[in-house]
Amino acid sequence: MKLILLGAPGSGKGTQAAYISDKYDLPHISTGDIFRENIKKQTPLGLKVKEIMDSGNFCPNDVTVELVKDRLKNEDCKKGYLLDGFPRNLFQAEALDEFCSPDLVINLEVDLNKIERRITGRRSCPKCGNSFHVDFIGNTNVCPDCGETLIIRKDDNVETVKERLHVYSEQTAPLIDFYTKQGKLVSVDGDKTIDEVFEQIVKVLG
Ligand code: AMP
Repeated sequence: MKLILLGAPGSGKGTQAAYISDKYDLPHISTGDIFRENIKKQTPLGLKVKEIMDSGNFCPNDVTVELVKDRLKNEDCKKGYLLDGFPRNLFQAEALDEFCSPDLVINLEVDLNKIERRITGRRSCPKCGNSFHVDFIGNTNVCPDCGETLIIRKDDNVETVKERLHVYSEQTAPLIDFYTKQGKLVSVDGDKTIDEVFEQIVKVLG
C-alpha cells in the first residue's frame, strides 16, 4: 500500500503516521524528520536547509524530490510506503506521480484556528521522534515513550507557525483538489482525539 498523509502543520500527521506504520507495517517516511536528522548531524544538506526550516519555508523542491526518490528505492519500500510531509506542493505531487504514484491519500482535516495552540504546546522527542502536547503530558520534559529529554522544535513558535500556515494554504492545500480529481483522497476529522482519528483511518484502510 502506497499511502500519503496530508494535512496542515500541527494536524497530527506525525502521530498518526507512527500508529499507521506500526499497524500496517509500512515504512514511515517523514521529510521533516529526514531534514532535522541532517541538521543534527550537520551534513551538507542539513547546513543548506537549516535557515529555511527555521523560517517556516519549504526546502528546495529538487533536493526534496531527490531525497524521497532515493528513499523509496530502499528494500523496505517494496511493500509500499507511508509518506508524511511529502508531497507539499503540486510540483512534488507531479514528480511523485512520475516515479511512484500513491494508492491513497488521507487528508487530516483540522480547524486552522486551533493550529497555533496545537503547535506551540508541542514537545518533541529528538530520540524517538514522537511528539506530545502539554495539555496531555503536563510540565514534564521527559519523553513518555523513551525517557529522553523533550525539546521544543525551533520552528514551533508563534511567528514561524503563522508563516508555515500561510505557506500551507498557498502551496499544500491545492493538493486536496489534485488528489480528489485523481479519486484518491479521503478526508478524516483530525480535530478528534488521537485514538478517534486513528479509528477513522483504520476504517478507511480496512
Ligand atoms: P514537518 O516536520 O513535516 O512539519 O516539516 C518541517 C519543515 O521541514 C517544513 O516546514 C519545511 O521547512 C521542511 N520540509 C518538510 N517536508 C518538506 C517538503 N516536502 N518540501 C519542502 N520542505 C519540507
